[in-house]
Amino acid sequence: MQTKISEEFSHSAEGQEAEQILRQCVHCGMCNATCPTYQLLGDELDGPRGRIYLIKQVLEGQQPTQKTQTHLDRCLTCRSCETTCPSGVQYARLLEIGRDIVEKKVGRSITQKMLRGVLKNGLSNPRLFQHALTWGRKIKPVLPRQLQEKIPAATSPGVMPQAEHARKVIMLEGCVQPGLAPNINAATSRVLDRLQIQTVRPQQAGCCGAVRLHLSDTDGAIVAAKNNIDAWWPLVNEALDTRVEHIVMTAAGCGVTVKDYGHLLAHDSAYAEKAKKISALTCDLSELLTDSVPELIALVGGEITEKLVWHAPCSLQHGQQVRGKVESILQSLGVAVQTCADSHLCCGSAGTYSILQSDLARQLRDNKIRALEASGADVIVSANMACQQHLQTGTKMPVLHWIEVLDQALANRSALIGPVDAVSDGTDIATVAEPVVTSPVLMPSESEIAAMLQANGETTVAKKKSGKATGRKKAAGPTKTGKSKKQ
Ligand code: SF4
Ligand code: SF4
Repeated sequence: MQTKISEEFSHSAEGQEAEQILRQCVHCGMCNATCPTYQLLGDELDGPRGRIYLIKQVLEGQQPTQKTQTHLDRCLTCRSCETTCPSGVQYARLLEIGRDIVEKKVGRSITQKMLRGVLKNGLSNPRLFQHALTWGRKIKPVLPRQLQEKIPAATSPGVMPQAEHARKVIMLEGCVQPGLAPNINAATSRVLDRLQIQTVRPQQAGCCGAVRLHLSDTDGAIVAAKNNIDAWWPLVNEALDTRVEHIVMTAAGCGVTVKDYGHLLAHDSAYAEKAKKISALTCDLSELLTDSVPELIALVGGEITEKLVWHAPCSLQHGQQVRGKVESILQSLGVAVQTCADSHLCCGSAGTYSILQSDLARQLRDNKIRALEASGADVIVSANMACQQHLQTGTKMPVLHWIEVLDQALANRSALIGPVDAVSDGTDIATVAEPVVTSPVLMPSESEIAAMLQANGETTVAKKKSGKATGRKKAAGPTKTGKSKKQ
């Protein structure tokens, strides 16, 4: 696509970067086919190609209007278009630049400014958010229905492991996740603990910056990124014993943002190198656990008997281009996991989108739920708390983070044989915590484990736990989802 960037932007780093991106677009329109807002609204300007044109016009000197802003606002930043684009157009980065310019030139009404200010400051501050949530729960009955459904009941995270291990990873706890779904981080710590991996959680770390980026506050996102880099940097120093292996993300929305710190701070001489390293160390939980499949099979292989349907967050499948890993891990554990029709489409959560574009978000949610429910599964699993909360407002099916399912399976297995570490007094493990056995389901034998590994393309058989567990029967107690296990 030919461009003639105006004098106003042609000398800035952002203007030049935008020009490079625009030149890659060949205007083919293939991206429109997989754009959720184009599918819903059928308007060229509510698809990626149209939005690219709008941004091009602004960069070439045309004054943006409120209409321009509306079309850019309606974008979910789901990045499905990037996955589809044959020319590798970095649409999300172009949108970020375009939105920033339009924000400054068009502005917002007082009401809009106030709402966006509350979201920016309230959602990105874990303490403030926790206070607001506590109050919200108290006055929930008198709140409008739309707000009520966004306030889930309080849940307990359970016990956080305290053991130290030689292998360590930093875990970003996030800003709203500890308040809305505290079990996710705790479940992650428990599963990693059983794999002899310690989760380190520096208190100074906070919001990843995604909320501010969604609200066109790039400067605020940069402050958040620098704060996290400062919090993590002492732990990634290779000269220290405390060095961590990875920075693990339990929310795909945070993961895509932290993986982009290197790019966000590329022009900051004090932080550019550090940011690059932090991004390189960052991984999604599924990327980390892919290497631990043999141990996981030994720990919980055959334990999960519910049928699961996988909802792939856009921030994972399109933003991070991580696809198939969660499904592969679950399948290796013998879990029946399905995907739904149109799994590439966004559920409508998209950061603050479900609040600021609630009508479109509800339509996308309902379409997604119809597809997920049609799978006939018992439980929806995902890898992004925001998607989970959004989907849960529209279905009675339980919506969990996939690590919570693994954690529950570990708890079920421990209830059967007792925590292995607790058997330190010479007591025969067979006499510990004998449960009421109501199910004939056997834990997997070594040959079954070998078969599961083979199905996953692995050759190593983990014997550590399976030796003790082989032949034991398990109780059919209630699961986290409130269902009894299927026999
Ligand atoms: S698919 Fe890529 S090249 Fe084609 S119009 Fe969309 S962004 Fe441009
Ligand atoms: S990011 Fe998503 S909503 Fe936005 S243009 Fe691309 S496909 Fe459409």
